[in-house]
Amino acid sequence: MKSDQDLLITRSCSKYGNDPGRVIDILWEIQKSLGCVSYEAMEKIAATINTSRVQIEGIVSFYSFFSETPKGKIIIRLCDDIVDRHAGVEQIAVVFSEELGIGIGQTSPDREFSLEYTPCIGMSDQAPAALVNDVVVTSLTPDSARETARRLKANPDTSKLVAAKGDGNNGHRLINTMVKNNIRLKGEVILADGIQAEAGLKKALSKTPLEVIQEVVESGLRGRGGAGFSTGEKWRLAQKALASKRFVICNADEGEPGTFKDRVLLTERADLIFEGMAIAAYAIGSDSGILYLRAEYAYLRPFLEAVLEERRKSGLLGSAICGKKDFSFDIRIQLGAGAYICGEESALISSCEGLRGEPKNRPPFPVEKGYLSKPTAVNNVETFCCAARIMDRGSSWFAGIGTKASHGTKLLSVSGDCAKPGVYEVPYGVEVAALLEMAGAEDTAIVQVGGASGDMIGRRSFNRKICFSDLATGGAITLFNSSRNVLAIVDYYLEFFAHESCGYCTPCRVGTVFLRERIQKVMHGFADKADLEYLQELGKTIMITSRCGLGSSAPKCVLHSIAQFPLVYSSHLKESLDGLQPGFNIQKALEESRRIAKRKSMIYDPVFGNEGE
Ligand code: SF4
Repeated sequence: MKSDQDLLITRSCSKYGNDPGRVIDILWEIQKSLGCVSYEAMEKIAATINTSRVQIEGIVSFYSFFSETPKGKIIIRLCDDIVDRHAGVEQIAVVFSEELGIGIGQTSPDREFSLEYTPCIGMSDQAPAALVNDVVVTSLTPDSARETARRLKANPDTSKLVAAKGDGNNGHRLINTMVKNNIRLKGEVILADGIQAEAGLKKALSKTPLEVIQEVVESGLRGRGGAGFSTGEKWRLAQKALASKRFVICNADEGEPGTFKDRVLLTERADLIFEGMAIAAYAIGSDSGILYLRAEYAYLRPFLEAVLEERRKSGLLGSAICGKKDFSFDIRIQLGAGAYICGEESALISSCEGLRGEPKNRPPFPVEKGYLSKPTAVNNVETFCCAARIMDRGSSWFAGIGTKASHGTKLLSVSGDCAKPGVYEVPYGVEVAALLEMAGAEDTAIVQVGGASGDMIGRRSFNRKICFSDLATGGAITLFNSSRNVLAIVDYYLEFFAHESCGYCTPCRVGTVFLRERIQKVMHGFADKADLEYLQELGKTIMITSRCGLGSSAPKCVLHSIAQFPLVYSSHLKESLDGLQPGFNIQKALEESRRIAKRKSMIYDPVFGNEGE
């Protein structure tokens, strides 16, 4: 007789056609029902879908939302983004620990609770924030954290945590969250009021696919995810590739620390996103699309599924869309499982295929050989919205917004030290200084443009512009005032990259750790000029030898901070009399023994000083 676990596994595998390509969905069902994917469960899944246990184990160990060992029924994941750290997430962790009687990374003996840190959950505009299973709690204070923990102990129904609902669709019964949109500035392309529903799709269907592609090419639309490749050219390549089937994938896996504008688009512009995907499908000749939704946004899934269902009923998805007999297209949602690297398009494709989210070698590019080895157009949430608007208003209208080389608007997720964190839709070409003023930022010393993988700039660069030819960005703008420690920020970003590296190539896997070690040496006053040279050399080497964008952008925070804040670095360097630099600080090392012996150092330490001696 089959056990309950066996029946669950059989049912879950069968629900997804015993297809190894849908193993992420299968693992989600097992994880949610059993609190983990045990080795025994892995064996049974592998046997059912005809793959190996090692393959399943590799996938489970890759994604941070899956676990081989049992987790609590309620998993509290505290957002460990740098903005959350500055907003006091550490105190929040202390409160949860006290109330639940467990430390970070632990599960209570009764298996009711697990407490963890997790990288950015896309709520930097309302930090500190946490995920309680799929429920988002925002703007936590020690008091609200204590109340949250006590409520959960009294009633484990996590939905009861939502006392006050957020604005806009956040209050929709299928979203039902306290998350706020924080839309601060509506531009004319995506966030404008009164956008006519499906106008872009209807106009696209009145043209030929090649005319649609040409219109998008002429608009100058470039990918909003950060890379900035021409969207029209991408579609043209996918359309031209010889194949019996093509795919459209929407990348809704915004994991860059500090970004959250796709969260707002998924909440408020879901129809526009799906409209853009349908236009892309028509243009390239695809009948299947996937929205890859990051696990942190699982709370949006029921709403998005309902929007898709409504579109099917309205003839906007399915067969003969808008009465166009030879055009069929449908979309499924693929939920991620917690891996930053899946924001990279080839890693995202791997994840959609039920594999570890590891980037693939290129060429061939996804437009030739993507999902299931078929031509695939992968675009960002914001890019699809732009495409739908271009089809409605025309390429000239779009090209007339922004700068000569950067057309249209850009949605920016602004967070950190400012009075008005939130989403700003600005025309390309806006100066950083103007953005700071809009956000009510005072005493800003550092701006991180583009999240951890972006550009770090100081005050003398605040006249630079947000556009592809100057500061290109996927949209995260993190602000730090002069009380923040630039080295601690760099250290945080390196910790993030070392954690998120998929481990495939050595320069990225090991190099990010070495960079961090050397930055910490600088922070602690042990470094000299040779260490700065080492940081720069190693940083450049990692950038040119890494296989994907994660490795090639991870050292940017080091290189940019050295260039932008040379005085910070030089003030931390230890003077060397003979050119030889000790690997540790002898004054610091002797501190404890001096304290015990009640003796004073007679040598002045330029970093630690002689305070109290
Ligand atoms: Fe993986 Fe890093 Fe190599 Fe990219 S650069 S493939 S993330 S190890």
